[in-house]
Amino acid sequence: MTAKVIDGKAFAATVRGKVAVHVSRLKADHNITPGLAVVLVGEDPASQVYVRSKGKMTLEVGMKSVEHKLDIETPEADLLALIEQLNNDPEIHGILVQLPLPKHLNEDLVINSISPAKDVDGFHISNVGLLSTGQKSMVPCTPLGCLMMLRDHHGSISGMNAVVIGRSNIVGKPMAQLLLNDSCTVTIAHSRTKDLPDVVRGADIVIAAVGRPEMVPGDWIKKGATVIDVGINRVEKPEGGTRLVGDVDYASCAEVAGAITPVPGGVGPMTIACLLANTVTACSRANGLVEPEGLTA
Ligand code: NDP
Repeated sequence: MTAKVIDGKAFAATVRGKVAVHVSRLKADHNITPGLAVVLVGEDPASQVYVRSKGKMTLEVGMKSVEHKLDIETPEADLLALIEQLNNDPEIHGILVQLPLPKHLNEDLVINSISPAKDVDGFHISNVGLLSTGQKSMVPCTPLGCLMMLRDHHGSISGMNAVVIGRSNIVGKPMAQLLLNDSCTVTIAHSRTKDLPDVVRGADIVIAAVGRPEMVPGDWIKKGATVIDVGINRVEKPEGGTRLVGDVDYASCAEVAGAITPVPGGVGPMTIACLLANTVTACSRANGLVEPEGLTA
């Protein structure tokens, strides 16, 4: 079997198109422009790239984009004061603090100071609680993107066996929760899981969110399963230079899977598209308006 390739790049463009349509309606019918504020502390090169591309795509879908770049030594009180100001700004509907933060800043405290209604990353403890009790929440972007691709590919995923490898707060746990909310039978695997290959072999859906290059080989995958590869790992090429690979061994997994996401071009583009989707959802909710269809969990 050769797997169908789930094209995250094309799907993300469709999601951004839907966001843009909803933004133009908000502008034309209600004179509202959704606004996203991104806060970056320090000069981590990868974070700078992410923030730049988030800002560019925010503008492309017609939203307002605000960037706050703070010095790496910014005191916690100053960062909290900026977040408070953004919480109270009626033109800002989404606030994202780029992680990781420098060591002297308490990440939990900072995230939980964002107004839950503007927490477009979905990391605030209130949103975590709402998601885990099946209530309307802001959903973390990467798992939301994975869910959208699964629903698009399968229609319904109800009753399917899903294995999520990785239990981080930003990917593994919310992913498992979303799959459970969609009535999958969910197993969460991690570094202490016994017989991981056997656990994965029982899965109709495999979500790999580990951070280990090409860790999952094809002989762990059940024939016809859907493989969603969240991993982004930069590895050296034998001929020099580097390339990006996921957490699954794409070549061998694609031989047995029914469908698979590539790296790059799979989950990655969906993450930013879902950030924009969350911002337009937050804006609609804040103004008591109908939410865009198909852009939330
Ligand atoms: P974390 O490092 O926070 O979590 C990794 C998880 O993998 C942990 O739960 C860990 O288990 C588990 N793990 C580590 N080694 C093994 C192993 N040998 N067997 C089974 N489980 C293992 O990573 P993130 O969740 O933040 O990210 C995971 C990957 O996804 C990374 O490659 C990251 O770059 C990528 N990513 C991609 C995004 C995108 O937009 N595409 C967005 C966010 C992340 P334990 O808890 O026991 O330590």
